[in-house]
Amino acid sequence: MTRFRHGAASITGRVRRINEDSYLAEPPLFAVADGMGGHGAGDIASALAIDALTACARRGPLTTDAVLAALDDASHAIVNLGEPDGSGTTVTGLADIATSGGGHLMVFNVGDSRTYRILGDHLDQLTIDHSEVQELLIGGVITPEQAQVHPRRNIITRALGSDPLPVADRWLVPAVAGDRYLLCTDGLVNELSEERISDLLAIADPQAAASALVAEADEAGGRDNITAVVIDVEAEDDAAVSDTTVPRPRPSGQS
Ligand code: MG
Repeated sequence: MTRFRHGAASITGRVRRINEDSYLAEPPLFAVADGMGGHGAGDIASALAIDALTACARRGPLTTDAVLAALDDASHAIVNLGEPDGSGTTVTGLADIATSGGGHLMVFNVGDSRTYRILGDHLDQLTIDHSEVQELLIGGVITPEQAQVHPRRNIITRALGSDPLPVADRWLVPAVAGDRYLLCTDGLVNELSEERISDLLAIADPQAAASALVAEADEAGGRDNITAVVIDVEAEDDAAVSDTTVPRPRPSGQS
């Protein structure tokens, strides 16, 4: 297992009545979810995603398949809410998964919340937004500057709670001591430039950094709910050493 230090902050902002974002910051699993739906259904949807991931982490050991199954469970649970206008949630996160090689983190994403790895003074966005604007960007129809202010930038093309089940993107990255990650909802990146986010991530303490990020996004307008989870990879525990041993072959005669 990998050791982490982390901090998290989530606020309603200055315009919305309730906070429909949810998050999980409990090693070995970190996630943020941004719910949507009428009459407060969004906060239920994002909470269902976080509940499913929390249950998955507690069952352990955490595997790629277990995380993906938890996302499917959450999606079914949201569909079963039977909201007449529909409800759903984004989810992105980082899971310290048990692999035979040890020391890998799974990044996963559905929707337009984001996972970044911080490289020196710039942000490396690991996730790809599932949004109309992202598709226009990929198609070369608009520029990144136009995407920032596009009127349809809030329209997402994938969410938990859709039928058929959405496919989650996932990547494996090595767990490297000293690396820092940021998970955030769109309420953060729509208020602050990546340069400013990067500046605030120079704050060494992860909780102080998360609090500073949401506070400044709130001051910048707070037009949406704002959530940030900051995760520092500290070191590998001794337990990881046993993870790296080669699995013993099964006795012959068994399938
Ligand atoms: Mg949002």
